[in-house]
Amino acid sequence: MDLATTGKDIERVIVTEEQIRLRLKELAVQVEKDYEGRDLLLIGVLKGAVMTMADFARSLQRHIEMDWMAVSSYGSGTKSSGVVRILKDLDRDITGREVVIVEDIVDTGLTLGWLKANLESRGAKSVEILTMLRKPEAAKVEVDVKYVGFDIPTEFVVGYGLDFNEKYRNLDFIGVLAKHMYS
Ligand code: IMP
Ligand code: MG
Repeated sequence: MDLATTGKDIERVIVTEEQIRLRLKELAVQVEKDYEGRDLLLIGVLKGAVMTMADFARSLQRHIEMDWMAVSSYGSGTKSSGVVRILKDLDRDITGREVVIVEDIVDTGLTLGWLKANLESRGAKSVEILTMLRKPEAAKVEVDVKYVGFDIPTEFVVGYGLDFNEKYRNLDFIGVLAKHMYS
């Protein structure tokens, strides 16, 4: 779905479809180089990372494996709480694997910090993080994000996998949700 169709729900565009495509290609080249001669397992975090995973994985000119987890940071609306619950676990054992977690956004970093520690505790050989977006808050926590698509301001964004009450995931761009939609 494009900007013309979403109308007044979106205050402004933060990242266009074209910018996403170009940035993912750059990240793919970097990951190909970093993981040359190494195994690579991409773990996507449902549901927000679906678009990033689909496009990033296809940008990579190498073999990968893919698995998925669904977690919920307790709390609803536009704030994250840091209490994480696994809704869907990995299909396979990751002992000795070289893992890159694929995420849509790092806001407080609480979810990813927890997830990274959780995957490391299962015996993964390495765990790195790739995220399409990062908000300034993320800098305050001890979570090392190796691959970042775009640093964005502290605003609530939707599109390209990111939702507000399960809506807007299918926008082909990322935009700031108009305040009147949630206040
Ligand atoms: P964190 O734990 O605060 O880093 O964020 C956890 C989750 O909150 C992310 O994976 C998103 O699902 C959601 N989230 C954070 N910021 C936004 C946003 O601006 N729009 C949509 N979802 C968000
Ligand atoms: Mg998410």
